[in-house]
Amino acid sequence: MIASDIRSGVEQLGDMIAEAASIVPFTGAGISTECGIPDFRSPGGLWTRNRPIPFDEFVSSPDARDEAWRRRFAMEATFAAARPGRGHRALAALYRVGKIPGVITQNIDNLHQASGFAAEDVIELHGNTTYARCIGCGRAYDLPWVRQRFDTMGGAPDCTVCDEPIKTATISFGQAMPEDEMRRAAELAQHCDLFIAIGSSLVVWPAAGFPMMAKNSGAKLVIINNEPTEQDDIADLVIRHDIGETLGPFIGN
Ligand SMILES: [Zn+2]
Repeated sequence: MIASDIRSGVEQLGDMIAEAASIVPFTGAGISTECGIPDFRSPGGLWTRNRPIPFDEFVSSPDARDEAWRRRFAMEATFAAARPGRGHRALAALYRVGKIPGVITQNIDNLHQASGFAAEDVIELHGNTTYARCIGCGRAYDLPWVRQRFDTMGGAPDCTVCDEPIKTATISFGQAMPEDEMRRAAELAQHCDLFIAIGSSLVVWPAAGFPMMAKNSGAKLVIINNEPTEQDDIADLVIRHDIGETLGPFIGN
């Protein structure tokens, strides 16, 4: 059912959180917009102005790699300045008291870790843009190093160990979903008693399958999103309000 107003939504959510022993949040771009991170998929967002560079193009074309890195450097001020918002902090509070075993996220901004989640308890379905990896051997590189090499060499650097290209640690279009993360996300979804989808339009598959998976495994499902989602019909509670305002009251938990 759809909460009639934010007050009743927060109240019902509070009851469900109190009753739940294991809560799994699933977060999308909407939780990070108040932190200044744009929703790349939104109308007018970066991806509607700049065609995303598919993985095979990144691998085969040095020009595409240079362009990908130039775009990433252009976003650095935004990512570097972003701090966890009220939604992140509320989830971190519930994590600290043991209610949340882990968070599943479509976001690449590292803000769950910054809010206090241990890195191993953040299941990143689309990777992480705050560091880089060699696509061959997987060696991790920090972004200042990549930038310095880029500026020195005038183009995207390759791995110092195996000479394969270095890419942000994100999952690009055309790249396989990360198997280990998909498996862990499914385990979390199947073993919680409350699943909260936050700030995701729930249209990108296979990620969007997790709310349904949780529901089918007996969990209650809450959807918090400004806009209607494709799965509102199967949710036990839908809160169509601002995420920071909806979750803010739970920071003190
Ligand atoms: Zn390598």
